[in-house]
Amino acid sequence: MPATVYYDDAANSALIADKRVAILGYGSQGHAHALNLKESGVDVIVGLREGSSSKAKAESAGLTVMNTGAAVAAADIIMVLLPDTEQKKVYDDDIAPNLAAGKSLAFAHGFNIHFGRIKPPADIDVWMIAPKGPGHLVRRTYEEGGGVPCLVAVAQDATSKAKDVALAYAQAIGGTRAGVLDTTFQEETETDLFGEQVVLCGGLVELIKNGYETLVEAGYQPESAYFETLHEVKLIVDLIYEGGITAMHYSISDTAEYGDLTRGPRVVTQDTKAEMKKILGEIQSGEFAKEWVAENENGRPNFNRLRQEAIDHPIEKVGAELRAMMPWISAGRKRVQDVSGG
Ligand code: NAD
Ligand code: MG
Repeated sequence: MPATVYYDDAANSALIADKRVAILGYGSQGHAHALNLKESGVDVIVGLREGSSSKAKAESAGLTVMNTGAAVAAADIIMVLLPDTEQKKVYDDDIAPNLAAGKSLAFAHGFNIHFGRIKPPADIDVWMIAPKGPGHLVRRTYEEGGGVPCLVAVAQDATSKAKDVALAYAQAIGGTRAGVLDTTFQEETETDLFGEQVVLCGGLVELIKNGYETLVEAGYQPESAYFETLHEVKLIVDLIYEGGITAMHYSISDTAEYGDLTRGPRVVTQDTKAEMKKILGEIQSGEFAKEWVAENENGRPNFNRLRQEAIDHPIEKVGAELRAMMPWISAGRKRVQDVSGG
């Protein structure tokens, strides 16, 4: 069954024009949602914790800032744009005590609702507008008159207007200009985790590192290995992004295409796919979520060690040196915290 996609004509802006929105957090997504809503004429406040370093930034952008609890109490729609690992605590301390029947509790990623970490009362609408791109793109495309495609999902519909309010919100941040895809909290959460673990981050980085190590261990210069296994990834990904795999194949040489078609399946094998299915199973069963929550509660010992090992990999040293010779690369760099959007 093809997915439903909503555009501007499906959104009724009146459903947000009469409401006040609190954006909790002023990070990657928070600043983009808050500023886009404001420029769309929506009554928006930013909720931050006492002493937040973002307060001055949000105020100098012309936004009203309140403490988290006060912002929740003052708003009809509460969009939670805090780090996923912090959301439960903030919900327990500052959000839950200030909710009232008929308000909307909104998210940009389904983790805490889907895995039952946050359990809102039944008289609250719970929905998601998840932009499929980092915050700076949500902001920039809006300023340019466009938007970033979003996902919409409803977990609780106490008012029987949750989907329509969500679409009005999506329109106000620019999402319906690009298309808003109908999904569920379960599908968004599980596919998002799967994508980042298996393909976008986990899979890709291991592919790069193993390719680099193979060349260097065979005696090739680290600089050559870096260009072939990391730098050029972007050129290929851009071609795939713009025109699909066929267009990428059209642009590369026949030699490269023949190598792709015959050698690719020897690198990523049926064993790899079997492992992908296992990883998906761990996501679906909640095992991954349980592990990640416990890791955070224990002070992140494994995460910190693995992060340091990744930083210390030789490809990072040679890469830093080479990129210093290509200043145009870092000039275009923006903080991209979550490539897949969640
Ligand atoms: P972020 O880390 O960029 O920003 C989080 C904000 O919350 C910051 O302003 C931070 O100062 C504040 N904060 C941190 N801890 C806090 C606490 N304990 N109490 C109050 N405030 C606190 O986060 P983000 O990347 O914008 O992610 C927000 C949500 O959007 C998450 O649910 C994420 O999954 C989702 N999302 C992110 C992206 C992305 O590309 N970054 C894309 C789609 C959806
Ligand atoms: Mg993601």
